[in-house]
Amino acid sequence: KDKSTVSITVVGASGDLAKKKIFPALFALFYEGCLPEHFTICGYARSKMSDAELRTMVSKTLTCRIDQRENCGEKMDQFLERCFYHPGQYDSEENFLELDRKLKEHEAGRVANRLFYLSIPPNIFVDAVKCASSSASSANGWTRVIVEKPFGRDSESSAALTRSLKQYLDEDQIFRIDHYLGKELVENLSVLRFSNLIFEPLWSRQYIRNVQFIFAEDFGTEGRGGYFDNYGIIRDIMQNHLLQMLAIFAMETPVSLDAEDIRNEKVKVLRSMRPLRLDDVVVGQYKSHTRGGVKYPAYTDDKTVPAGSLTPTFAAAALFIDNARWDGVPFLMKAGKALHDRRAEIRVQFRHVPGNLYNKNIGTDLDLATNELVIRVQPDEAIYLKINNKVPGLGMRLDRSNLNLLYAARYSKEIPDAYERLLLDAIEGERRLFIRSDELNAAWSLFSPVLKELEEKKIVPEYYPYGSRGPVCSHYLAAKYKVRWGDIGSDQQ
Ligand code: NAP
Repeated sequence: KDKSTVSITVVGASGDLAKKKIFPALFALFYEGCLPEHFTICGYARSKMSDAELRTMVSKTLTCRIDQRENCGEKMDQFLERCFYHPGQYDSEENFLELDRKLKEHEAGRVANRLFYLSIPPNIFVDAVKCASSSASSANGWTRVIVEKPFGRDSESSAALTRSLKQYLDEDQIFRIDHYLGKELVENLSVLRFSNLIFEPLWSRQYIRNVQFIFAEDFGTEGRGGYFDNYGIIRDIMQNHLLQMLAIFAMETPVSLDAEDIRNEKVKVLRSMRPLRLDDVVVGQYKSHTRGGVKYPAYTDDKTVPAGSLTPTFAAAALFIDNARWDGVPFLMKAGKALHDRRAEIRVQFRHVPGNLYNKNIGTDLDLATNELVIRVQPDEAIYLKINNKVPGLGMRLDRSNLNLLYAARYSKEIPDAYERLLLDAIEGERRLFIRSDELNAAWSLFSPVLKELEEKKIVPEYYPYGSRGPVCSHYLAAKYKVRWGDIGSDQQ
Protein backbone atom coordinates (compact mmCIF):
# COMPACT_ATOMS: atom_id res chain seq x y z
CA LYS A 1 0.00 0.00 0.00
CA ASP A 2 1.24 3.46 -0.88
CA LYS A 3 2.36 5.15 2.32
CA SER A 4 3.23 8.48 0.72
CA THR A 5 0.99 11.40 0.03
CA VAL A 6 1.16 14.37 -2.28
CA SER A 7 -0.03 17.83 -1.27
CA ILE A 8 -0.65 20.15 -4.19
CA THR A 9 -0.80 23.84 -3.28
CA VAL A 10 -2.19 26.14 -5.94
CA VAL A 11 -0.64 29.50 -5.09
CA GLY A 12 -2.90 32.20 -6.56
CA ALA A 13 -5.95 29.92 -6.35
CA SER A 14 -8.37 32.83 -6.71
CA GLY A 15 -7.00 33.66 -10.18
CA ASP A 16 -8.05 33.00 -13.70
CA LEU A 17 -5.55 30.31 -14.62
CA ALA A 18 -6.26 28.32 -11.46
CA LYS A 19 -9.99 28.34 -12.13
CA LYS A 20 -9.80 27.77 -15.88
CA LYS A 21 -7.00 25.25 -16.10
CA ILE A 22 -5.38 23.97 -12.93
CA PHE A 23 -8.32 22.76 -10.85
CA PRO A 24 -10.08 21.24 -13.89
CA ALA A 25 -6.87 19.43 -14.87
CA LEU A 26 -6.41 18.09 -11.33
CA PHE A 27 -10.00 16.84 -11.36
CA ALA A 28 -9.49 15.12 -14.73
CA LEU A 29 -6.40 13.37 -13.30
CA PHE A 30 -8.39 12.34 -10.24
CA TYR A 31 -11.19 11.01 -12.44
CA GLU A 32 -8.74 8.94 -14.47
CA GLY A 33 -7.23 7.51 -11.29
CA CYS A 34 -3.88 9.17 -12.04
CA LEU A 35 -3.45 10.93 -8.69
CA PRO A 36 -1.89 8.98 -5.82
CA GLU A 37 -4.29 7.34 -3.36
CA HIS A 38 -3.48 9.94 -0.72
CA PHE A 39 -3.53 13.50 -1.95
CA THR A 40 -4.64 16.93 -0.77
CA ILE A 41 -5.24 20.01 -2.84
CA CYS A 42 -4.92 23.34 -1.13
CA GLY A 43 -5.73 26.72 -2.63
CA TYR A 44 -3.60 29.61 -1.35
CA ALA A 45 -4.13 33.31 -2.10
CA ARG A 46 -4.77 36.60 -0.31
CA SER A 47 -8.54 36.62 -0.97
CA LYS A 48 -10.65 35.67 2.01
CA MET A 49 -12.40 32.39 1.28
CA SER A 50 -13.56 29.39 3.30
CA ASP A 51 -13.04 25.79 2.18
CA ALA A 52 -16.70 25.73 1.17
CA GLU A 53 -16.34 28.88 -0.90
CA LEU A 54 -13.29 27.52 -2.67
CA ARG A 55 -15.21 24.31 -3.45
CA THR A 56 -18.12 26.30 -4.87
CA MET A 57 -15.73 28.35 -7.00
CA VAL A 58 -13.90 25.26 -8.25
CA SER A 59 -17.08 23.24 -8.85
CA LYS A 60 -18.26 25.80 -11.40
CA THR A 61 -15.39 25.02 -13.76
CA LEU A 62 -15.19 21.24 -13.44
CA THR A 63 -16.41 19.20 -16.38
CA CYS A 64 -16.42 15.54 -17.30
CA ARG A 65 -15.45 14.22 -20.69
CA ILE A 66 -18.13 12.68 -22.92
CA ASP A 67 -17.10 9.15 -21.94
CA GLN A 68 -17.10 9.99 -18.22
CA ARG A 69 -20.57 11.34 -17.75
CA GLU A 70 -22.02 8.43 -15.75
CA ASN A 71 -20.68 9.00 -12.26
CA CYS A 72 -19.48 12.51 -12.90
CA GLY A 73 -21.32 14.23 -10.01
CA GLU A 74 -20.18 11.63 -7.49
CA LYS A 75 -16.56 11.94 -8.61
CA MET A 76 -16.72 15.71 -8.40
CA ASP A 77 -17.96 15.52 -4.81
CA GLN A 78 -15.15 13.12 -3.88
CA PHE A 79 -12.63 15.47 -5.50
CA LEU A 80 -13.98 18.59 -3.85
CA GLU A 81 -13.81 16.92 -0.42
CA ARG A 82 -10.04 16.78 -0.90
CA CYS A 83 -9.78 20.51 -1.74
CA PHE A 84 -9.07 23.08 0.98
CA TYR A 85 -8.19 26.74 1.14
CA HIS A 86 -5.72 28.75 3.14
CA PRO A 87 -5.70 32.55 2.91
CA GLY A 88 -2.32 34.25 3.18
CA GLN A 89 0.16 36.77 1.85
CA TYR A 90 2.74 35.66 -0.72
CA ASP A 91 5.64 37.12 1.28
CA SER A 92 4.65 35.97 4.76
CA GLU A 93 6.71 33.18 6.28
CA GLU A 94 4.16 33.04 9.07
CA ASN A 95 1.27 32.44 6.68
CA PHE A 96 3.23 29.70 4.94
CA LEU A 97 3.99 28.13 8.34
CA GLU A 98 0.24 28.02 8.98
CA LEU A 99 -0.17 26.39 5.59
CA ASP A 100 2.51 23.87 6.57
CA ARG A 101 0.58 23.00 9.73
CA LYS A 102 -2.63 22.55 7.76
CA LEU A 103 -0.95 20.34 5.18
CA LYS A 104 0.61 18.23 7.95
CA GLU A 105 -2.84 17.51 9.39
CA HIS A 106 -3.93 16.10 6.05
CA GLU A 107 -0.69 14.26 5.46
CA ALA A 108 -1.25 12.39 8.75
CA GLY A 109 2.35 11.34 9.31
CA ARG A 110 2.87 9.81 5.85
CA VAL A 111 5.89 10.56 3.66
CA ALA A 112 4.74 13.92 2.35
CA ASN A 113 5.63 15.10 -1.13
CA ARG A 114 4.73 18.68 -1.90
CA LEU A 115 4.02 20.41 -5.18
CA PHE A 116 3.53 24.17 -5.35
CA TYR A 117 1.94 25.58 -8.49
CA LEU A 118 2.78 29.30 -8.79
CA SER A 119 -0.24 30.73 -10.58
CA ILE A 120 0.58 34.32 -9.65
CA PRO A 121 2.05 37.37 -11.37
CA PRO A 122 5.82 37.07 -11.91
CA ASN A 123 6.78 39.97 -9.61
CA ILE A 124 5.83 37.83 -6.60
CA PHE A 125 7.37 34.50 -7.75
CA VAL A 126 10.50 34.91 -5.69
CA ASP A 127 8.71 35.95 -2.48
CA ALA A 128 6.38 32.98 -2.74
CA VAL A 129 9.22 30.55 -3.48
CA LYS A 130 11.26 31.89 -0.57
CA CYS A 131 8.39 31.41 1.88
CA ALA A 132 7.29 28.05 0.48
CA SER A 133 10.81 26.74 0.61
CA SER A 134 11.70 28.01 4.09
CA SER A 135 8.36 27.42 5.81
CA ALA A 136 6.31 24.88 3.92
CA SER A 137 8.62 22.48 2.14
CA SER A 138 8.41 18.78 2.83
CA ALA A 139 10.41 17.44 5.73
CA ASN A 140 10.65 13.88 4.46
CA GLY A 141 9.66 13.81 0.77
CA TRP A 142 10.25 15.90 -2.33
CA THR A 143 9.27 19.55 -2.82
CA ARG A 144 8.72 20.79 -6.38
CA VAL A 145 7.56 24.11 -7.74
CA ILE A 146 5.80 24.66 -11.05
CA VAL A 147 6.42 28.12 -12.48
CA GLU A 148 4.29 29.67 -15.24
CA LYS A 149 5.67 32.02 -17.85
CA PRO A 150 6.76 34.77 -18.17
CA PHE A 151 10.26 33.76 -17.14
CA GLY A 152 11.59 37.30 -17.39
CA ARG A 153 11.27 39.65 -20.34
CA ASP A 154 14.81 39.41 -21.73
CA SER A 155 18.10 37.60 -21.11
CA GLU A 156 19.06 39.74 -18.09
CA SER A 157 15.75 39.61 -16.24
CA SER A 158 15.36 35.92 -16.96
CA ALA A 159 18.86 35.17 -15.64
CA ALA A 160 18.11 37.29 -12.55
CA LEU A 161 14.89 35.32 -11.94
CA THR A 162 16.73 32.02 -12.31
CA ARG A 163 19.44 33.20 -9.88
CA SER A 164 16.82 34.26 -7.33
CA LEU A 165 14.87 31.02 -7.60
CA LYS A 166 18.07 29.03 -7.22
CA GLN A 167 18.75 30.69 -3.88
CA TYR A 168 15.85 28.69 -2.55
CA LEU A 169 15.47 25.74 -4.91
CA ASP A 170 17.70 23.33 -6.81
CA GLU A 171 17.27 23.20 -10.59
CA ASP A 172 15.62 19.78 -10.33
CA GLN A 173 12.92 21.23 -8.07
CA ILE A 174 11.93 23.87 -10.62
CA PHE A 175 9.38 22.86 -13.27
CA ARG A 176 9.08 25.67 -15.84
CA ILE A 177 5.89 25.07 -17.69
CA ASP A 178 5.32 25.78 -21.37
CA HIS A 179 1.88 24.35 -21.89
CA TYR A 180 2.50 23.87 -25.62
CA LEU A 181 4.84 21.04 -24.70
CA GLY A 182 1.90 19.26 -23.09
CA LYS A 183 -0.18 19.37 -26.25
CA GLU A 184 -0.90 16.04 -27.86
CA LEU A 185 0.38 16.91 -31.32
CA VAL A 186 3.57 18.48 -30.03
CA GLU A 187 4.26 15.33 -28.08
CA ASN A 188 3.48 13.35 -31.20
CA LEU A 189 6.06 15.24 -33.29
CA SER A 190 8.88 13.00 -32.11
CA VAL A 191 6.78 9.88 -32.61
CA LEU A 192 6.00 10.94 -36.15
CA ARG A 193 9.66 11.57 -36.93
CA PHE A 194 11.41 8.81 -35.10
CA SER A 195 9.01 5.90 -35.39
CA ASN A 196 8.12 6.17 -39.09
CA LEU A 197 10.69 5.39 -41.72
CA ILE A 198 9.23 7.72 -44.31
CA PHE A 199 9.71 11.08 -42.58
CA GLU A 200 13.12 11.15 -40.95
CA PRO A 201 15.12 10.60 -44.17
CA LEU A 202 13.39 13.67 -45.63
CA TRP A 203 13.90 15.81 -42.51
CA SER A 204 16.73 18.04 -43.72
CA ARG A 205 17.76 20.85 -46.06
CA GLN A 206 17.99 18.30 -48.84
CA TYR A 207 14.23 17.83 -49.07
CA ILE A 208 12.64 20.55 -46.95
CA ARG A 209 12.34 24.00 -48.46
CA ASN A 210 11.00 25.80 -45.41
CA VAL A 211 9.12 25.21 -42.18
CA GLN A 212 6.39 27.46 -40.79
CA PHE A 213 5.16 27.79 -37.22
CA ILE A 214 1.85 29.60 -37.12
CA PHE A 215 -0.20 30.80 -34.19
CA ALA A 216 -3.42 32.76 -34.64
CA GLU A 217 -6.08 33.90 -32.22
CA ASP A 218 -9.41 35.32 -33.38
CA PHE A 219 -9.80 37.64 -30.39
CA GLY A 220 -7.85 40.55 -28.95
CA THR A 221 -6.78 41.33 -25.39
CA GLU A 222 -10.39 42.17 -24.39
CA GLY A 223 -9.65 44.01 -21.16
CA ARG A 224 -6.62 41.88 -20.20
CA GLY A 225 -4.09 43.99 -22.05
CA GLY A 226 -2.33 45.25 -18.92
CA TYR A 227 -0.18 42.14 -18.68
CA PHE A 228 0.17 41.71 -22.43
CA ASP A 229 1.29 45.26 -23.12
CA ASN A 230 4.44 44.80 -21.10
CA TYR A 231 5.39 41.71 -23.13
CA GLY A 232 3.94 41.73 -26.66
CA ILE A 233 3.35 38.82 -28.98
CA ILE A 234 7.04 37.95 -29.53
CA ARG A 235 7.63 37.29 -25.84
CA ASP A 236 4.16 35.89 -25.24
CA ILE A 237 4.09 33.31 -28.04
CA MET A 238 7.23 33.17 -30.20
CA GLN A 239 10.09 33.08 -27.73
CA ASN A 240 8.44 30.21 -25.87
CA HIS A 241 5.64 28.23 -27.54
CA LEU A 242 6.71 28.48 -31.19
CA LEU A 243 10.41 28.20 -30.41
CA GLN A 244 9.81 25.08 -28.31
CA MET A 245 7.97 23.46 -31.20
CA LEU A 246 10.80 24.46 -33.52
CA ALA A 247 13.42 22.91 -31.23
CA ILE A 248 11.58 19.59 -31.08
CA PHE A 249 10.95 19.70 -34.81
CA ALA A 250 14.57 20.32 -35.70
CA MET A 251 16.53 18.41 -33.05
CA GLU A 252 18.78 15.45 -33.81
CA THR A 253 17.74 12.00 -32.62
CA PRO A 254 18.20 11.97 -28.83
CA VAL A 255 20.19 9.17 -27.25
CA SER A 256 17.02 8.03 -25.46
CA LEU A 257 13.65 9.36 -24.37
CA ASP A 258 15.18 10.38 -21.07
CA ALA A 259 14.45 14.01 -20.15
CA GLU A 260 18.10 15.08 -20.13
CA ASP A 261 18.83 13.45 -23.49
CA ILE A 262 15.89 15.21 -25.12
CA ARG A 263 16.62 18.57 -23.52
CA ASN A 264 20.29 18.29 -24.52
CA GLU A 265 19.25 17.98 -28.15
CA LYS A 266 16.82 20.89 -27.90
CA VAL A 267 19.50 23.14 -26.42
CA LYS A 268 21.85 22.21 -29.26
CA VAL A 269 19.29 23.39 -31.81
CA LEU A 270 18.71 26.68 -29.98
CA ARG A 271 22.42 27.31 -29.64
CA SER A 272 22.96 26.62 -33.35
CA MET A 273 20.49 29.29 -34.35
CA ARG A 274 21.60 32.51 -35.96
CA PRO A 275 20.79 35.53 -33.77
CA LEU A 276 17.55 37.03 -35.04
CA ARG A 277 18.04 40.35 -36.89
CA LEU A 278 15.63 43.25 -37.07
CA ASP A 279 15.56 42.85 -40.88
CA ASP A 280 14.02 39.44 -40.38
CA VAL A 281 11.20 40.56 -38.11
CA VAL A 282 7.98 42.40 -38.93
CA VAL A 283 5.41 43.61 -36.42
CA GLY A 284 1.76 44.59 -36.50
CA GLN A 285 -0.99 45.78 -34.20
CA TYR A 286 -4.73 45.39 -34.71
CA LYS A 287 -6.92 48.37 -35.33
CA SER A 288 -10.65 48.83 -35.05
CA HIS A 289 -12.82 47.35 -37.76
CA THR A 290 -16.55 47.32 -38.42
CA ARG A 291 -18.03 44.21 -39.98
CA GLY A 292 -21.68 43.29 -40.34
CA GLY A 293 -22.64 46.33 -38.29
CA VAL A 294 -20.44 45.19 -35.39
CA LYS A 295 -17.53 47.38 -34.37
CA TYR A 296 -14.47 45.44 -33.24
CA PRO A 297 -12.07 47.43 -31.05
CA ALA A 298 -8.50 48.45 -31.73
CA TYR A 299 -5.81 47.12 -29.37
CA THR A 300 -5.41 50.63 -27.95
CA ASP A 301 -9.18 50.82 -27.25
CA ASP A 302 -8.55 48.31 -24.45
CA LYS A 303 -8.73 50.40 -21.26
CA THR A 304 -5.87 48.42 -19.72
CA VAL A 305 -3.51 49.35 -22.59
CA PRO A 306 -1.59 52.65 -22.39
CA ALA A 307 -2.60 55.17 -25.06
CA GLY A 308 -0.33 55.12 -28.10
CA SER A 309 1.19 51.76 -27.19
CA LEU A 310 3.45 50.32 -29.92
CA THR A 311 3.35 46.81 -28.48
CA PRO A 312 3.05 44.27 -31.31
CA THR A 313 -0.03 42.06 -31.31
CA PHE A 314 1.30 40.41 -34.46
CA ALA A 315 4.79 39.44 -35.51
CA ALA A 316 6.47 37.33 -38.14
CA ALA A 317 10.11 36.29 -38.14
CA ALA A 318 12.55 34.33 -40.27
CA LEU A 319 15.00 32.19 -38.33
CA PHE A 320 17.88 29.99 -39.40
CA ILE A 321 19.64 27.04 -37.84
CA ASP A 322 23.29 27.08 -38.84
CA ASN A 323 24.01 23.39 -38.66
CA ALA A 324 24.62 20.68 -41.22
CA ARG A 325 21.04 19.47 -41.30
CA TRP A 326 19.29 22.82 -41.69
CA ASP A 327 21.81 25.15 -43.34
CA GLY A 328 19.88 27.76 -45.39
CA VAL A 329 16.36 26.51 -44.62
CA PRO A 330 14.09 29.35 -43.48
CA PHE A 331 12.10 28.61 -40.34
CA LEU A 332 9.31 31.13 -40.43
CA MET A 333 7.19 32.07 -37.46
CA LYS A 334 3.96 34.03 -37.44
CA ALA A 335 1.84 34.83 -34.40
CA GLY A 336 -1.03 37.21 -33.97
CA LYS A 337 -4.12 38.23 -32.06
CA ALA A 338 -7.47 39.41 -33.45
CA LEU A 339 -6.98 37.57 -36.74
CA HIS A 340 -9.61 35.90 -38.91
CA ASP A 341 -9.26 32.47 -37.36
CA ARG A 342 -7.80 30.55 -34.51
CA ARG A 343 -5.09 27.96 -35.05
CA ALA A 344 -1.68 26.67 -34.13
CA GLU A 345 0.11 24.60 -36.71
CA ILE A 346 3.40 23.53 -38.20
CA ARG A 347 3.72 23.51 -41.99
CA VAL A 348 6.56 21.74 -43.71
CA GLN A 349 6.98 22.67 -47.35
CA PHE A 350 9.07 20.23 -49.35
CA ARG A 351 11.19 20.97 -52.39
CA HIS A 352 10.02 20.55 -55.95
CA VAL A 353 10.17 17.16 -57.52
CA PRO A 354 13.27 17.38 -59.74
CA GLY A 355 12.55 16.85 -63.44
CA ASN A 356 8.90 16.28 -62.72
CA LEU A 357 7.30 14.48 -65.64
CA TYR A 358 3.98 16.04 -64.79
CA ASN A 359 4.93 19.69 -64.61
CA LYS A 360 2.84 20.50 -67.67
CA ASN A 361 -0.21 18.88 -66.06
CA ILE A 362 0.12 20.96 -62.91
CA GLY A 363 0.36 24.31 -64.60
CA THR A 364 2.81 27.08 -64.01
CA ASP A 365 2.30 27.45 -60.27
CA LEU A 366 5.32 25.64 -58.91
CA ASP A 367 3.95 25.79 -55.36
CA LEU A 368 1.26 23.39 -56.46
CA ALA A 369 3.89 20.89 -57.42
CA THR A 370 5.31 20.54 -53.94
CA ASN A 371 4.26 18.44 -51.04
CA GLU A 372 3.31 20.00 -47.73
CA LEU A 373 2.97 18.28 -44.38
CA VAL A 374 0.70 20.03 -41.90
CA ILE A 375 0.61 19.28 -38.21
CA ARG A 376 -2.38 21.07 -36.75
CA VAL A 377 -1.84 21.44 -33.03
CA GLN A 378 -5.16 23.15 -32.38
CA PRO A 379 -8.12 23.25 -32.85
CA ASP A 380 -9.29 19.98 -34.47
CA GLU A 381 -5.97 18.20 -34.13
CA ALA A 382 -4.84 16.71 -37.40
CA ILE A 383 -1.87 15.63 -39.48
CA TYR A 384 -2.23 15.83 -43.23
CA LEU A 385 0.06 15.55 -46.19
CA LYS A 386 -0.71 17.32 -49.42
CA ILE A 387 0.09 15.16 -52.39
CA ASN A 388 -0.36 15.49 -56.12
CA ASN A 389 -2.94 13.11 -57.43
CA LYS A 390 -4.51 12.35 -60.78
CA VAL A 391 -8.03 13.65 -61.10
CA PRO A 392 -10.02 10.51 -61.96
CA GLY A 393 -11.10 10.33 -65.57
CA LEU A 394 -9.74 9.89 -69.05
CA GLY A 395 -7.58 13.00 -69.16
CA MET A 396 -4.36 13.61 -67.25
CA ARG A 397 -5.00 16.44 -64.89
CA LEU A 398 -3.42 16.57 -61.47
CA ASP A 399 -4.69 18.21 -58.34
CA ARG A 400 -3.54 18.43 -54.78
CA SER A 401 -5.32 16.19 -52.30
CA ASN A 402 -4.77 15.48 -48.65
CA LEU A 403 -3.75 12.27 -46.97
CA ASN A 404 -5.57 12.93 -43.75
CA LEU A 405 -5.29 11.91 -40.14
CA LEU A 406 -8.08 13.79 -38.43
CA TYR A 407 -7.96 12.98 -34.75
CA ALA A 408 -11.70 13.38 -34.15
CA ALA A 409 -12.46 10.82 -36.84
CA ARG A 410 -9.70 8.36 -35.92
CA TYR A 411 -9.70 8.45 -32.13
CA SER A 412 -12.94 8.48 -30.18
CA LYS A 413 -11.27 9.52 -26.92
CA GLU A 414 -11.22 13.18 -26.03
CA ILE A 415 -7.69 14.58 -25.94
CA PRO A 416 -6.53 15.51 -22.43
CA ASP A 417 -5.76 19.15 -21.78
CA ALA A 418 -2.06 20.01 -21.86
CA TYR A 419 -2.16 20.95 -18.16
CA GLU A 420 -3.23 17.41 -17.22
CA ARG A 421 -0.19 15.84 -18.81
CA LEU A 422 2.15 18.45 -17.33
CA LEU A 423 0.74 18.24 -13.81
CA LEU A 424 0.97 14.47 -13.89
CA ASP A 425 4.56 14.63 -15.12
CA ALA A 426 5.48 17.08 -12.36
CA ILE A 427 3.96 14.75 -9.74
CA GLU A 428 5.85 11.81 -11.22
CA GLY A 429 9.11 13.76 -11.52
CA GLU A 430 9.20 13.44 -15.32
CA ARG A 431 11.05 16.53 -16.60
CA ARG A 432 10.99 15.88 -20.35
CA LEU A 433 8.30 18.49 -21.06
CA PHE A 434 9.64 21.23 -18.79
CA ILE A 435 12.17 23.91 -19.72
CA ARG A 436 15.68 23.58 -18.31
CA SER A 437 17.47 26.80 -17.37
CA ASP A 438 20.10 26.51 -20.13
CA GLU A 439 17.29 26.07 -22.67
CA LEU A 440 15.64 29.20 -21.35
CA ASN A 441 18.92 31.16 -21.62
CA ALA A 442 19.43 30.01 -25.19
CA ALA A 443 15.86 30.97 -26.11
CA TRP A 444 16.28 34.45 -24.66
CA SER A 445 19.69 34.96 -26.30
CA LEU A 446 18.01 34.52 -29.64
CA PHE A 447 15.27 37.07 -29.13
CA SER A 448 16.59 39.60 -26.59
CA PRO A 449 18.74 41.73 -28.94
CA VAL A 450 15.96 42.18 -31.49
CA LEU A 451 13.37 42.93 -28.80
CA LYS A 452 15.67 45.60 -27.41
CA GLU A 453 16.17 47.11 -30.85
CA LEU A 454 12.43 47.13 -31.61
CA GLU A 455 11.80 48.99 -28.36
CA GLU A 456 14.73 51.38 -28.54
CA LYS A 457 13.98 52.35 -32.13
CA LYS A 458 10.28 52.61 -31.30
CA ILE A 459 9.40 50.65 -34.44
CA VAL A 460 5.83 51.45 -35.41
CA PRO A 461 3.79 48.30 -36.10
CA GLU A 462 1.76 47.94 -39.28
CA TYR A 463 -1.88 48.36 -38.33
CA TYR A 464 -4.20 45.57 -39.52
CA PRO A 465 -7.97 45.40 -39.14
CA TYR A 466 -9.40 43.27 -36.32
CA GLY A 467 -10.49 39.93 -37.81
CA SER A 468 -8.27 40.18 -40.91
CA ARG A 469 -5.46 37.93 -42.10
CA GLY A 470 -2.89 40.24 -40.53
CA PRO A 471 -0.49 42.83 -41.95
CA VAL A 472 0.89 42.52 -45.47
CA CYS A 473 4.46 42.96 -44.21
CA SER A 474 4.43 39.27 -43.27
CA HIS A 475 4.06 38.39 -46.97
CA TYR A 476 7.02 40.56 -47.89
CA LEU A 477 9.13 38.89 -45.24
CA ALA A 478 8.19 35.44 -46.55
CA ALA A 479 8.75 36.53 -50.16
CA LYS A 480 12.25 37.69 -49.26
CA TYR A 481 13.04 34.02 -48.70
CA LYS A 482 10.91 32.82 -51.64
CA VAL A 483 8.32 31.43 -49.28
CA ARG A 484 4.55 31.60 -49.42
CA TRP A 485 2.62 31.19 -46.17
CA GLY A 486 0.86 27.85 -46.34
CA ASP A 487 -2.20 28.93 -44.40
CA ILE A 488 -3.29 31.36 -47.08
CA GLY A 489 -4.47 28.84 -49.68
CA SER A 490 -7.37 26.48 -49.18
CA ASP A 491 -6.74 23.23 -47.35
CA GLN A 492 -9.40 20.99 -48.77
CA GLN A 493 -10.02 18.11 -46.38
P1 NAP B 1 -4.18 36.57 -12.15
O1 NAP B 1 -5.61 36.12 -12.15
O2 NAP B 1 -3.89 37.97 -12.53
O3 NAP B 1 -3.51 36.37 -10.72
C1 NAP B 1 -3.64 35.22 -9.93
C2 NAP B 1 -3.83 35.61 -8.49
O4 NAP B 1 -2.67 36.29 -8.00
C3 NAP B 1 -4.98 36.58 -8.27
O5 NAP B 1 -6.19 35.90 -8.11
C4 NAP B 1 -4.57 37.34 -7.03
O6 NAP B 1 -4.97 36.58 -5.90
C5 NAP B 1 -3.05 37.31 -7.08
N1 NAP B 1 -2.54 38.60 -7.57
C6 NAP B 1 -2.87 39.24 -8.69
N2 NAP B 1 -2.19 40.39 -8.82
C7 NAP B 1 -1.43 40.50 -7.72
C8 NAP B 1 -0.49 41.46 -7.28
N3 NAP B 1 -0.21 42.55 -7.98
N4 NAP B 1 0.12 41.25 -6.09
C9 NAP B 1 -0.13 40.16 -5.39
N5 NAP B 1 -1.03 39.20 -5.78
C10 NAP B 1 -1.65 39.37 -6.93
O7 NAP B 1 -3.30 35.65 -13.07
P2 NAP B 1 -3.69 34.35 -13.89
O8 NAP B 1 -4.30 34.75 -15.17
O9 NAP B 1 -4.44 33.40 -13.02
O10 NAP B 1 -2.26 33.76 -14.25
C11 NAP B 1 -1.36 33.31 -13.25
C12 NAP B 1 0.04 33.21 -13.81
O11 NAP B 1 0.07 32.39 -14.96
C13 NAP B 1 0.63 34.53 -14.26
O12 NAP B 1 1.99 34.53 -13.99
C14 NAP B 1 0.40 34.54 -15.77
O13 NAP B 1 1.35 35.32 -16.40
C15 NAP B 1 0.55 33.08 -16.08
N6 NAP B 1 -0.22 32.64 -17.25
C16 NAP B 1 -1.58 32.78 -17.30
C17 NAP B 1 -2.30 32.29 -18.38
C18 NAP B 1 -3.82 32.41 -18.45
O14 NAP B 1 -4.42 31.79 -19.33
N7 NAP B 1 -4.47 33.16 -17.59
C19 NAP B 1 -1.64 31.64 -19.40
C20 NAP B 1 -0.25 31.49 -19.30
C21 NAP B 1 0.43 31.99 -18.22
P3 NAP B 1 -5.29 37.26 -4.47
O15 NAP B 1 -5.62 38.69 -4.70
O16 NAP B 1 -6.44 36.46 -3.96
O17 NAP B 1 -4.05 37.05 -3.72
